[in-house]
Amino acid sequence: MLAVNGLHANVGDKEILKGLDFAVAPGEIHAIMGPNGAGKSTLSHVLSGREGYTVTAGTATFEGQNLLALEPEQRAQLGLFLAFQYPVELPGVNNTYFLKAALNSIRKSRGETELDAVSFLRLIKEKLKILHLDDSLLKRAVNAGFSGGEKKRNEIFQMALLEPKLAILDETDSGLDIDALRVVADGVNALRSPERSMIVVTHYQRLLDYIQPDYVHVLAKGRIIRSGGKELALELEEKGYGWIDAEGQAA
Ligand code: ADP
Ligand code: MG
Ligand code: MG
Repeated sequence: MLAVNGLHANVGDKEILKGLDFAVAPGEIHAIMGPNGAGKSTLSHVLSGREGYTVTAGTATFEGQNLLALEPEQRAQLGLFLAFQYPVELPGVNNTYFLKAALNSIRKSRGETELDAVSFLRLIKEKLKILHLDDSLLKRAVNAGFSGGEKKRNEIFQMALLEPKLAILDETDSGLDIDALRVVADGVNALRSPERSMIVVTHYQRLLDYIQPDYVHVLAKGRIIRSGGKELALELEEKGYGWIDAEGQAA
């Protein structure tokens, strides 16, 4: 589904990603872990096509297409979803209206009919039920005054509604409280399917107490210094990033 090869990227003049290689197959959950400043969010942003990031070498393909040549909207239309680390607030815009517009824009680009209000409400109810969420956030303006946990709930709800093929979820470095963590984890687990892949970016091991990743990659100083199964996250929890830094340098 996603293949990243030799990916190098700059923010301004500074090289942040220094040659990344990994591949995500359909249905897999990959965790990207690493210390603060490792380049985790930079990777998420490069894959989503956010402005201000320049790819200087390497490739990223999504279902065989050159992802890096596409506009962010085109990437979303192909089925890529990025939950932004700091989700945008749109104070005057009703959340339900925003979600309906986002979904219909994607449907339109796929040549599907737009959903009318009744069908959209039915879909919303179905997704709320799957995620065990209530509709309180839908009546408010997009992210305006949302707590960290509410933003995460909203993000997971967006993901459920847009039904992406590949979702990239970036946990904030400041961390989430246990309730918000559970929302993310329960959402990821509820939306897990053989066709849907997810990349969960996290500084902390504790998210992975609730989500069982198929693969764990440790990113440090712009490089993946180790990849393994879920046991790698536990090893990191036990020994800290210092352990792997030292080993990475020794290798
Ligand atoms: P992580 O998410 O792993 O904590 P980031 O990708 O946010 O790491 O940051 C990696 C490095 O890139 C850091 O040294 C950070 O200071 C730098 N960086 C990230 N974004 C910017 C930016 N917009 N301008 C300048 N430097 C940036
Ligand atoms: Mg950071
Ligand atoms: Mg980050």
